[in-house]
Amino acid sequence: MAAFKTLDTIGNVSGKRVLVRVDLNVPVSDGKVTDATRIERVAPTITELAGKGAKVILLAHFGRPKEGPDPALSLAPIATATAEVIGRPVGFAANCIGEKAAAAVGAMKDGDILLLENTRFYKAEEKNDPAFVEQLAANGDIFVNDAFSAAHRAHASTEGLAHKLPAFAGRTMQAELEALEKGLGNPVKPVVAIVGGAKVSSKIDLLMNLVKKVDALVIGGGMANTFIAARGTDVGKSLCEHDLAPTAKQIMIEAAQAGCAIILPSDGVVAREFKAGAANEVVAIDAVPADAMILDVGPKTVATVNDWIDRAATLVWNGPLGAFEIEPFDKATVATAQHAAARTKAGKLVSVAGGGDTVAALNHAGVADDFSYVSTAGGAFLEWMEGKELPGVEVLKA
Ligand code: ADP
Ligand code: MG
Repeated sequence: MAAFKTLDTIGNVSGKRVLVRVDLNVPVSDGKVTDATRIERVAPTITELAGKGAKVILLAHFGRPKEGPDPALSLAPIATATAEVIGRPVGFAANCIGEKAAAAVGAMKDGDILLLENTRFYKAEEKNDPAFVEQLAANGDIFVNDAFSAAHRAHASTEGLAHKLPAFAGRTMQAELEALEKGLGNPVKPVVAIVGGAKVSSKIDLLMNLVKKVDALVIGGGMANTFIAARGTDVGKSLCEHDLAPTAKQIMIEAAQAGCAIILPSDGVVAREFKAGAANEVVAIDAVPADAMILDVGPKTVATVNDWIDRAATLVWNGPLGAFEIEPFDKATVATAQHAAARTKAGKLVSVAGGGDTVAALNHAGVADDFSYVSTAGGAFLEWMEGKELPGVEVLKA
């Protein structure tokens, strides 16, 4: 990955109108923000720019509005929540373009912070419509993108604006890009990847990319069943995409050609029902009873995975090893996550993880803070793992 422009090279921003794309797509219940993590993540960029005397104008989307304004998806309550997090006033304009936006921006003093209404109230946002980009750009002198999680979409506020105005990565975007660079872009070898989760079908591109980049790939979770079955081993009633056997074989061939070791489970924890506390037993992977399903990898597999983690200098992880939401099928995921966290704390491992359920699993294991980096970016993280170019990142390259 080429170097990208950051706030270090932005120059003097005092008195300048800086349009900052942020991710404020936070969970809200009864008008109250229930998890302010995303706001906390963009706070450093906002306070840094405001502290340097910029007029900080925040652009964000919220939810998935249909055509036109939707009061239920207004960013107004988020302005209040943002003010609480950063400890200074945050103004709000009831439109992201046009007279209302222009008047609010025109009234700003140096160091002020203003949030503009949901960009997705205009379909032109997602179409990256040049006329809409123009209207957004009318309120700014500089563009800063701090929303990595939206960078896989070429929208007006994530990509279009970067062509119109001098563009820079915000601090959170920078941290994410630097962490990802350490994970797969330019990692210290050997690199081990763990990929789990439910299905192969949602992660074919990801697996195909990883086998070319990493030294060893651990496949766990429900998706391992497809690989095991493709080899001719019976997986009983386990979640399994039998029609993807050729794909699984192809991934194994590509891995062999690239010199990437594939590590499949050697044992599994099986149960007859998919529910918490279901009666279960550990069986060898070639001895899964016909009426049972594999809900977690077994202790032998955990020991093998931990050995691989010990050999690795870099670990990238997406997807839990088992059905971690229901105990005791969280055991392998928790044990492996804790092992990776300990290696990281000991300075032996760079560990980068991401994915909605993966973040939940690492939180459940109590180790999210001990990994080198945990990406909360969802779709953008997965596209990065797939080796795809992210349009919102491409435009920030120096
Ligand atoms: P992420 O959101 O981190 O990308 P995924 O959505 O791919 O992860 O996978 C998470 C899901 O995979 C979880 O809901 C988990 O219950 C499921 N899963 C993992 N192992 C199994 C298994 N052996 N059988 C059924 N589901 C599984
Ligand atoms: Mg998921």
